[in-house]
Amino acid sequence: MTTKFADIIVPLPLAQTYTYSIPEEMENQIAIGMRVIVHFGTSKFYTGIVANIHSNHPFYDKIKPISEIIDDKPILLPSQLQLWNFISQYYQSALGDIYKTALPSGLKIENESIIELVPEMLNIKLSRGEEKIIEILKDEKSHPITEFTTSQLKHIKHLIDIGVITKTEKTTDNYKPKFTDFIAINPIYINNINNALHIIGRAKKQKELLEKYIELSEYKAISKKDLLDTTGISPTILKQLTDKNILHIEKHRCYRIDTTSTISSKPHELTIAQQNAYKAIKSGFSTHQSILLHGITSSGKTEIYIQLIKDYIAQGKQVLMLVPEAGLTQQLANRMKQFFGGEMGIFHSFCNNYEKVETYQHQLSDNHYKLIIGVRSSIFLPFHNLGLIIIDEEHDMGYKQMEPAPRYHARDVATMLARIHGAKTLLGTATPSIETYANCYNGKYILVELNERYGGVTLPQIHLIDIKECYRKKQMKGHFSLEMIETINQCIEAKKQIILFQNRRGFASYMKCTQCGYVPKCPNCDVSLTYHRHNNTLTCHYCGYTATIHNSQFIIHNHENHSALNSFCPQCKEGQLHTHGFGTEQVEDEVKLLFPNYKVARLDLDTSRSAKSFDSIVEAFQSGEIDILIGTQMVAKGLDFDNVGLVGILNADNLLHHPDFRAYERAYQLLVQVSGRTGRRAEKGKVLIQTYQPENPIFNQIRMNDYRAFFNQDMNERHAFNYPPYVKLIRIRIKHTDFNICNYAADMLANKLKLRLKNRILGPDIPPIGRIQNKHIKQILIKIEITAPIQQAKKIIHDEIQGVMSQRPYNTVQFQLDIDPI
Ligand code: ADP
Ligand code: ZN
Repeated sequence: MTTKFADIIVPLPLAQTYTYSIPEEMENQIAIGMRVIVHFGTSKFYTGIVANIHSNHPFYDKIKPISEIIDDKPILLPSQLQLWNFISQYYQSALGDIYKTALPSGLKIENESIIELVPEMLNIKLSRGEEKIIEILKDEKSHPITEFTTSQLKHIKHLIDIGVITKTEKTTDNYKPKFTDFIAINPIYINNINNALHIIGRAKKQKELLEKYIELSEYKAISKKDLLDTTGISPTILKQLTDKNILHIEKHRCYRIDTTSTISSKPHELTIAQQNAYKAIKSGFSTHQSILLHGITSSGKTEIYIQLIKDYIAQGKQVLMLVPEAGLTQQLANRMKQFFGGEMGIFHSFCNNYEKVETYQHQLSDNHYKLIIGVRSSIFLPFHNLGLIIIDEEHDMGYKQMEPAPRYHARDVATMLARIHGAKTLLGTATPSIETYANCYNGKYILVELNERYGGVTLPQIHLIDIKECYRKKQMKGHFSLEMIETINQCIEAKKQIILFQNRRGFASYMKCTQCGYVPKCPNCDVSLTYHRHNNTLTCHYCGYTATIHNSQFIIHNHENHSALNSFCPQCKEGQLHTHGFGTEQVEDEVKLLFPNYKVARLDLDTSRSAKSFDSIVEAFQSGEIDILIGTQMVAKGLDFDNVGLVGILNADNLLHHPDFRAYERAYQLLVQVSGRTGRRAEKGKVLIQTYQPENPIFNQIRMNDYRAFFNQDMNERHAFNYPPYVKLIRIRIKHTDFNICNYAADMLANKLKLRLKNRILGPDIPPIGRIQNKHIKQILIKIEITAPIQQAKKIIHDEIQGVMSQRPYNTVQFQLDIDPI
């Protein structure tokens, strides 16, 4: 007889699976993908997942048995496990971390088995070990099983077998099914309705309710709420009928998610341009897995998606449509519901845990959703037969999970998911990411373009305001140029609405000369230097270059001897360098002073933490209750408004000087996207951009809608400074509460890595935020050539980190790996 083993994924940040033996009685029940309870470490139980079943005895002896099987069917399909393994390898993240991210919390039962004494059974003769457990339980009537040791467990198991103690599961945050009241007729009256009417006699209302019930239900059970709502009859009358035992109340299992609503509209007919794009996509898929749909804002990309989704559903396939942000999911879902009804499920962070579990389970079942619209985590849902993944706004940063591990990019993982299913991927956007567009150039993806707006509306007219000039001519009120103020007034008089955009990025204040607009930049990298107030230095976050300004010149910063930052501009030698950065709140204050009669609202993270607040602001703006909407990048994304006459960008410069090689790309994307919010219907819209450097080529690229010029320029810079897509980036963040330990660990790791990976290693340096939650942070950046074997480099990095961590006190240091950081 062979003994069987199972490799289990436990919800802990551990790279590998752990092998347990399968007790004989479980052998016929267990399967890959089921949840099991296992004992791990000295005294803890966890809900693990079976990743593999085999009969290879592990090389160590002490193998614990699986304690319990939770499911009678796998909750993780083989394709999901395959995806987990891919993520684990590519992102170098622990399967346990992936498990924690991938399953809705209602499924990750934080279970605690509680054992209790059965006092009536205590007269049985017990062993010494068993007696000891009974003593513990006498003091404390019930006790979590996790607090016993492994050796005590076998006694506990025996005590349960002989009935001296009982075990119950106390679960936290576990999924609870929901029930509602249904009304059914007592079966004895089904063919004898006259008998029932006879009992009712002359009670008119009761008679009416019974008749309505029959009419609506045809003698089946119907929801109590529906019955009362449609008839308008009071619950008291219903109670009289149930008291007479004519009608019954039944409890029916119901779902919080919508699986029943019906399709109410047919997709719109596509325009000629849209049809051409649609056909190009279809034929592209016959040769390629991935297609980029580059369509300008409001060109009807969503209409094309709808057609494609219909096609795939008609072929019996499932579709996943990814959107970058929860707020947008709702607007889109409302639009899509009419075309897909109950075939469509929604999965985003505003869904509660129960809804997430139901959606997950619905996807496991045979009558799963045909279409899921969801945020990045929906790549982890079960799919039986995925045919197409649409990644809307593919350039959006919201697809990247920053914290915690796994730090994955949903766009890239989705491509892998599609491959696992033999499915296609369609990436859509008006402003492709550099990486994706480069993939069209190198032939990996097919490019399909859509260059006209629906309804023949032309792209908005974009006008630049040189605020350097405005300040000089004293034509500024706060952060508003007189031209901006005047245009806002005209716009409101024309009964149009206004969006004001200000992208305040928390920490990244930079320095700028008040006279000439000069911004200090790193000589080695194409990024602006960040001002660090605490030590008065300017630092590059990519290569660690540090400088102070002394006698109007940059000097390389010397740690022993840092002189105070002289604030005179090294370029014009007249102006002073000031820190910069103002946020949406300040804009709101100024707007209220400048335009006391207009209704103003603000849409940023602070005002829209919940779905409700986000929706209510968006709805209020849509319905015209608000004249001026001020916002961060949130107003830039995907929202479809009717009546926006003006988009005002208060300061385009702070987008350009973000200390990041992606700053130019982000600025382009944001400016195009936010501009796209105006003139979406009949009339052409207007965009005003305030900037210190109207001569920057980016503005012309945006004005001429010349994505390729932008792309070529940015690619040239990335080539010159050796950034993606010309290299692969890997970032290691080293964190510890003790600065010295953090510092030494970082130096030690960097030195070891430099021995093996040479000048591919940059740093260590201090990242933009050098301390978070009392932890000091240092970072090492690694640039690997595209042609080099990247998995091998990852392995070296992994091994060296393990090496450092094996020494005290560095075993307490956190090393966070980010593959393709953004
Ligand atoms: P995009 O996704 O490219 O920004 P949308 O799909 O949101 O563009 O289209 C913009 C607006 O134009 C939407 O209100 C949409 O309903 C409408 N629209 C686009 N194409 C059509 C069409 N073929 N028929 C009817 N309305 C359309
Ligand atoms: Zn640099």
